[in-house]
Amino acid sequence: MREIRGIHIVVIGAARSGVAAAILLKKKGAEVFVSDAGAISMSSKAKLIDTQINFEENGHTDLAEQGNFAVLSPGVPTEAPIVQTYLNTGKEVFSEIEVASWFTNNKIVAITGSNGKTTVTTWLSYIWETAQVDFSLAGNIGYAFSEKIEEVKGEHILEVSSFQLDHIDSFKPAISVLLNITPDHLDRYGYSLDNYAASKFRITENQTAENWFIFNYDDPLIKQHVEALQKKESFPQLWGFSNKNEVPEGAFIRNDQIIFRFNNKEETLMSVFEIGLKGQHNLQNGLAAALAARAAEIKNEAIRESLKTFTGVEHRLEIARVVDGVKYINDSKATNVNAVWFALDSYNVPMTLILGGRDKGNDYSELVDQIKEKVHTIIAIGESKDRVKEQLAAITPNFETAETMRDAVRAAKKVAKRGEVVLLSPACSSFDMFDDYEHRGKVFKEEVNKL
Ligand code: ADP
Repeated sequence: MREIRGIHIVVIGAARSGVAAAILLKKKGAEVFVSDAGAISMSSKAKLIDTQINFEENGHTDLAEQGNFAVLSPGVPTEAPIVQTYLNTGKEVFSEIEVASWFTNNKIVAITGSNGKTTVTTWLSYIWETAQVDFSLAGNIGYAFSEKIEEVKGEHILEVSSFQLDHIDSFKPAISVLLNITPDHLDRYGYSLDNYAASKFRITENQTAENWFIFNYDDPLIKQHVEALQKKESFPQLWGFSNKNEVPEGAFIRNDQIIFRFNNKEETLMSVFEIGLKGQHNLQNGLAAALAARAAEIKNEAIRESLKTFTGVEHRLEIARVVDGVKYINDSKATNVNAVWFALDSYNVPMTLILGGRDKGNDYSELVDQIKEKVHTIIAIGESKDRVKEQLAAITPNFETAETMRDAVRAAKKVAKRGEVVLLSPACSSFDMFDDYEHRGKVFKEEVNKL
C-alpha cells in the first residue's frame, strides 16, 4: 500500500467520486485539498466542510497545483490544463478507483465496456445476493468505490469507465470483464478507436495468472488486443463469451443451451430461453455475468437461478406500461447508436421509435436495416431532430417530430397498434431537454402513465 500519511494531495473535481476519494484520503492521514473548475454542489460542500477538507470552486488557483500528486474525479478530462500541469511537471495523476484500491485487500470484480456495464454490474450483485455471498457494489449506480472501502466483507463488484482506467497504476482486479468496444466518447481519445480500446484493456494491466479476464469473443478489436495480451510475460486466465461462436475457454451457446467450457471440459448451464432479460445483448451480458460469478467460485445453481430471475435495471429496456395492447418501453439509457441497435434487435413486432436529443456526431446508418424491417414511425425529439430527419426520414414510412416528451408519447399513441411496441431509445444524451437520462426516462414514464 502506498504511504500517504502527511502527504499533500489535490483532488480535482468535487463530484461524488472526487469527494469520496478526498474523504477517504483524509481519513487515511493525507493532507487533502479539493479544487473544482466549476461550482461545487451544496451536498458535496456539506460533506467537505463536515470532514474539514479545504476546497475551492469556480476555477483553479495556484493551490490546485501544489499537490505531491493529483486525484481526478472521473468527469475531469486528461486534457484539462490543471491535469496537464501535473503531468508536464512529472507528477503523478491517479483516478478515484486507483486510490480506493490502495486501501483494500479484498478481491475486485471490475466490469468495463461501452455498453452494458451497469446491467452486468447489477446482475452480478444479484447473483452474489442469490448465492448469499458477501459483496459490496460501487460504480455508476449509487456509490463511489472510495465510499465502499470500509465494508471489508466479500468481493468489491465495481463498474469501471475508461476514464477511470486512464489513470490507474496498481489497480488489479481478481476478475475483470470487458463487454464490448464501440465508438463512444471518442472525443476524449483523439478520435481513435484504438486508443479507446487500449484504455479499456488497461483493466488487465496488472493482472497475473491467478486472475481472470472475461471478454467478448465476437468483437474483432477485442480479440486483436487479447492476442497481444497473450504475448505478455504475465497475463490473466482468458475466458471468452459468445452468443455466436464456440469459444476455447469460457461460455457459449450450442443448440440453445448455455455451455461452460473450462480446461476442455464442458458443462451445460441452462437453456437460453430461461434467461429473464430480452435481447441478444442481454444474452451476452448474462454470459459475461455467469463467467465472472463462476470465476469467483459461485455455484452453478445460484448462477442459473439468478440468470432466470433478474429483471434488469431501470431505464434499460424497461417495460413502462402496456396500454391498449401496446408495450411502451423506456430505454432512456441508450445514449449511443449501438445501444439502439440492440434495443431494436430485441423486438420482432412493428415499432414506433422515439429518437433524438443531444447528438455527439452520430451516424444513424447502422440502424437502417432494422428500421426498414420493423419501424413504421420515427418520432424525433431534441436538438438532433434535423440530423435524424436527414438520415432516416426517407427510409421510414412515417416520420414526425415532437417538441416535448408529452407530444412525442401522444403522437406515438396515435400510430401504434395492438401488439406493437413504442420504444424510447434516443441514441443521444438528454441534456438539451432534461437533467439527465434518468429524468428523461422518468418523464417518458409519467407521460405514458397519463395515457
Ligand atoms: P452502461 O452502464 O455501459 O452505460 P447500461 O447497462 O446502462 O450500460 O446500458 C446502456 C444501454 O445499452 C441501454 O440502452 C441498454 O439496453 C444497452 N445495452 C445493455 N447491454 C448492452 C450490450 N451488451 N451491448 C449493447 N447494448 C447494451
